[in-house]
Amino acid sequence: MKRIGVIGGGQLAWMMASAAQELGIELVIQTPHTSDVAVGLAVETVLAEVDDVAATATLATKCDVITFENEFVDLDGLRKLATTEDVCFIPPLAALAPLLDKYTQRCYLRDLGLPVPKFAPLTHSELPLGFEFPVAIKARRNGYDGQGTFIIKDESALADLYHRYPDTPFLIEEFVEFDRELAIIAARGINGEVVTYPILETQQEDQVCRRVFTLQDLPDEIVQTCNSIASKLLTSLGAFGVFGIELFATREGKVLVNEIAPRTHNSGHLTIEACATSQFSQLIRAVAGLPLGSTALTCGGAVMVNLLGYEDTHSDYLAKRHQLSAIPHSHVHWYGKQESRIGRKLGHVTILVGTAPHSDPQDYRAQAENLARQVAAIWDE
Ligand code: ADP
Repeated sequence: MKRIGVIGGGQLAWMMASAAQELGIELVIQTPHTSDVAVGLAVETVLAEVDDVAATATLATKCDVITFENEFVDLDGLRKLATTEDVCFIPPLAALAPLLDKYTQRCYLRDLGLPVPKFAPLTHSELPLGFEFPVAIKARRNGYDGQGTFIIKDESALADLYHRYPDTPFLIEEFVEFDRELAIIAARGINGEVVTYPILETQQEDQVCRRVFTLQDLPDEIVQTCNSIASKLLTSLGAFGVFGIELFATREGKVLVNEIAPRTHNSGHLTIEACATSQFSQLIRAVAGLPLGSTALTCGGAVMVNLLGYEDTHSDYLAKRHQLSAIPHSHVHWYGKQESRIGRKLGHVTILVGTAPHSDPQDYRAQAENLARQVAAIWDE
């Protein structure tokens, strides 16, 4: 395989392109903006919206197989294309089908017997029977980075939400009092083998991921539960490729699935430096039909901090990036976006914490948190 088509041209496609280059594979991308960061690394770009199926037909003529950077696609249109033009998508469209709408995704997970928060479609501006405030309300489609997810505390906030988005189909969920949020990146290769990465803790603020930590203190039972959730899900979906699975861990030791993304995931960015095979390289391998690589940590642990926009401006924040690069064992990834907007992901920094597994998990965690604070002190100043 020589060329992979990617629907989407943002930072995930950009990191995918670097991994593809190392494996001698070229990327062609479909994206509407010439300014998108992956355009510079792609051998060719089809300039069109990601849900433009005619453009995807053109993309298909330029590559051997197509994968996804985001899931905001026209699935029915792509299905027709797959049948009439014999276009190959990885993950297969059948594996995407239950996942694109958060409500059908929840139903799929529940029907598979996986633990999920209590949920229902929201059909009117009153709290459905069986729910109590606070609740989580989510746009069923096209939500990302917390856009489209709302924690609603009372009747008036619910009425206000309905007023602001009268035409948006929503899903309602019980508010989970989680102890921490976990994420697992999993890959399934062409031979059906599922591999999982070390389980991660993610920390969100205002529903947006701020920090990700590798863990030293996760009970074996939880590790096994998460791994078996990943394996069951990917196998049942008949999925190939890389998937990000977000979970809530409760104080009582329960794990609930929050969400599954059919692609590489923000929580897995630290795999670039901290694991033997990055999630991006793994995706390229799965898509190209190559054997999957080792997911093992190659260091003691790592912390990843997202560099989120905190103002509306045009700046490359060069001075701050130099300061971040000066932190020992740090790796700064700057996505080269031309505009900063509040909450926009402009880059991320991964810092490796030691070279060997730490004998004292608390000591490791204290170091990792201290490093995350150092990043925040530079970035958020
Ligand atoms: P997105 O798809 O935009 O990432 P998510 O559904 O993953 O949205 O929600 C973003 C964040 O909002 C979660 O990581 C979590 O912190 C919070 N959240 C989402 N659903 C719930 C819930 N049911 N209970 C408590 N917090 C939630």
